[in-house]
This record gives sequence, structure tokens and C-alpha cells, in this order.
Amino acid sequence: MDFVSGLRCRECGRAYPAEALHVCDFCFGPLEVTYDYERIASVVSRERIAAGPRSIWRYQDLLPVADAAPVDLGAGFTPLVRADRLAAELGLGELWIKDDTANPTGSFKDRVVSVALTKARQLGFKVAACASTGNLANSVAAHAARAGMESVVLIPADLERAKVTMTAVYGGTVVAVEGTYDDVNRLCAELTSEHPSWAFVNVNVRTYYAEGSKTLAFEVAEQLGWRAPDHVVVPIASGSQLTKVAKGFEELVKVGLLDGEPSVRISGAQAAGCAPVATAFAEGTDAVRPVKPHTIAKSLAIGNPADGWYALEAIRRSGGACGAVTDEEVLEGIRLLARTEGIFAETAGGVTIATLAKLAAEGVVRSDERVVALVTGHGLKTVEALAGVVGPTATIAPTLDAFDAAVDLGAEPDQPAADGAHGSGGTDAPRSAR
Ligand SMILES: *Cc1c(COP(=O)(O)O)cnc(C)c1O
Ligand SMILES: [Zn+2]
Repeated sequence: MDFVSGLRCRECGRAYPAEALHVCDFCFGPLEVTYDYERIASVVSRERIAAGPRSIWRYQDLLPVADAAPVDLGAGFTPLVRADRLAAELGLGELWIKDDTANPTGSFKDRVVSVALTKARQLGFKVAACASTGNLANSVAAHAARAGMESVVLIPADLERAKVTMTAVYGGTVVAVEGTYDDVNRLCAELTSEHPSWAFVNVNVRTYYAEGSKTLAFEVAEQLGWRAPDHVVVPIASGSQLTKVAKGFEELVKVGLLDGEPSVRISGAQAAGCAPVATAFAEGTDAVRPVKPHTIAKSLAIGNPADGWYALEAIRRSGGACGAVTDEEVLEGIRLLARTEGIFAETAGGVTIATLAKLAAEGVVRSDERVVALVTGHGLKTVEALAGVVGPTATIAPTLDAFDAAVDLGAEPDQPAADGAHGSGGTDAPRSAR
């Protein structure tokens, strides 16, 4: 049994039943899932969660659908890694990386899609559809296959090769559209009225989809030993993830899973080539003006973000900031994270790390804060971004002389030095093992 009390318009507050609805009939505002928090508080506990599955479904009491056998490939329960070496480079103190590259299809989207398709199946839909900048396409195609549903996925034609292959391999329908994501999304909205029997993950079941992002907040808190971080850095595409991460921390307080009134600052990260939210933040306005994206961070390239205003509001309310970084800085961010912590992120992860670096340099993210950066997609998805940037140190003939001529690691001690370095993860907080 779920604890959903219904849907509510985020603008005018009108109530709706928990069906495949996403906009308010009266004011066209987006709808949001509401819960009976008193009833949740009376059943939920840290122990009950700990006894649950090692996936997002351990938080089922706080999700918009209850199902003993959800549409599940194992999304969530990803590592929270203490990042001392990266922290030292950035002049920070306690820094953690939430490594969502470890999800089943390599991005955080598995969290939202697992929730959306479980609800869609419950509502009787047989076809799962979406417009995608890539990662959503991968995840919808995979989860639809898992659920025995058909999938129809629309992508911009210029998407990275890996993301096309990782969608098409699951055997659904994949349509490449000549245009930007915003063009694809507009076509998708038209298709929604043509095909009311299809569950469009980012349109008619978006209300449920969005709730899946809350599990990032839930997991981070649980992995920190049921403590909230002081500051979280979140990438922004449509702004949904950031908005729901904020909601997730608030809910943990509401149902009594976090003690006291923790205040979590939330900062947003965007690529300079698609930074409508960061621009509005910098200008101090409420108007998130649409832009035409031009960036290597394609998974974040939404020029007209549906939840942009809500993300901006959540950032301001929490006392966070929103930064934007150039494509060059994105590539540096990818290499910095890989070099210091051994985690290979896609371009969106580069955006997060480069923005973290920028906000740390500006003193916005502080060394006395417990900081978590959300790294949301795997580097193998966007390898072309690094073409010509990283490669072999040298290419040599198969001889010792050639090796010696090409490789010089500097003075070498006779014996390996005693290890006194870096104890990654050596804290009192539990780490998820995955
Ligand atoms: C979709 C996506 C995000 C954030 O998406 P929102 O639309 O803002 O919820 C972040 N990182 C990656 C890798 C993504 O694919
Ligand atoms: Zn309304």
C-alpha cells in the first residue's frame, strides 16, 4: 500500500487524483505528488529501511507507488565515496562523491525511470515513451525491456554514439530527430495527445518520474549515518533532480528520519553553453530565459528547463548558488575527478566537479562544510568528448630502449615507500558496498 494522498498543483494548490496527470486544468501549473506524512511517520524507521532491498526500493514508503515486484534493474544504492584527495586539491574539508555512474544503465536516470515505469504499469500502460538527451533513453529502453513493455524513444540526431547504441540494443523503437532536445520535447508533447495510451516518462507520468530523484537525498543521508550534508552540488538539466533532492531532505525531517532541523545548502551546476538557471541566479531575476544550447554536456542541454524556476527557488531558499562552467573546464573536471579519485564521469559529471571547484574557489562551498557532489553519469557514455584530450603517454616499438626513452617517472627509491597516504573512506560513516 502506498501513502500517496493525491496530486496537487504547485501553482494554485488544486487537488487531483493520483492518475496519469501532469498539468493543472485551471492554471497549467505542474502537478506534484502529495503524501500522508503522518501515516508514513508512523510506519517508517531507519531499521525498516535497513532491512529493505539494496536499491531505491528500500525507500518505498516515500515513493509514489507501492509494488512488491517493481520494474527494477537495481537502480540506486550507489557508493558514497569519501574524496580526500579531490578535497585537498580544491581546498575543501569533508567531501563526498555520490557515484551514480554505478547505476544499471550508467546514470542517475535509472532512479526516476524505475519509479515511473512501475507506476505506469500499475496504471495499465503497455508502452513506455520519452524524449531524451540520452541517458533517459538508455534507461527507458532498458527498464521497458525488463518490464516486458514496448518502448518508443525520441532523441536528438546528434547524440553521442554510445548513448544511441545503449538505447537501440534493448530492441525498442528509437527515433532520431533532426533538432535540439527542445525540438524533440515539443514533438513528444504533440505525440502525447495523439497517443494517450502511451506512458511518456517525461510528460504524462512526469509527476511520478520526478519523485525518484528524492532517493538521492535519502541515500546520502543514510550513507552518512542518518546525517544531512551541509552542502550538495547538483547538476541541472530540466531542474527536476535538484528540486526533488531538496524535497527529499525536507521529507526525511517530516517523517522523523533525520534529527533536528538540518539545513542543507543546495547549489546548481550548469554548462556555460546551456545555463539558463545559472544566468537567472547571477542576474538576481526570477525569469529563467530559454537559450539555444551549445555544449559538450549534452545530457544537461535543455535550453528551456521545465523545472528551472523551481530549481532556482530551491537554490535561493537553501542559501546555495548556481554556477556555470565552460566546456574546457568540463573536460578538466572529468580528468580531475578521474585522476584524484578513480571515478570516470561523463560530461555532466565534469560540469558538477568543475562547478564545485569554481564555487570552492569563490568561497561559496566552504572547507568547514560536509559537502556532497552528485556525479550522475558514466564516462564511457561520452568518450568522444575526450578524443584528443587523453590518450597513450607514448607509442613505442616493443623494446626496452624505446620504453626507457619514452617513460621517465623521475627518481625511484630502492624499496616502495611505506604507505602513509590517503585513506579513502576511512571515516565513521558507513559506505554502501556495490
Ligand atoms: C538528466 C540528467 C541530469 C539532471 O536532470 P534534470 O532534468 O535536471 O532532473 C543530471 N545528470 C545526468 C547525467 C542526466 O542524464
Ligand atoms: Zn493550478
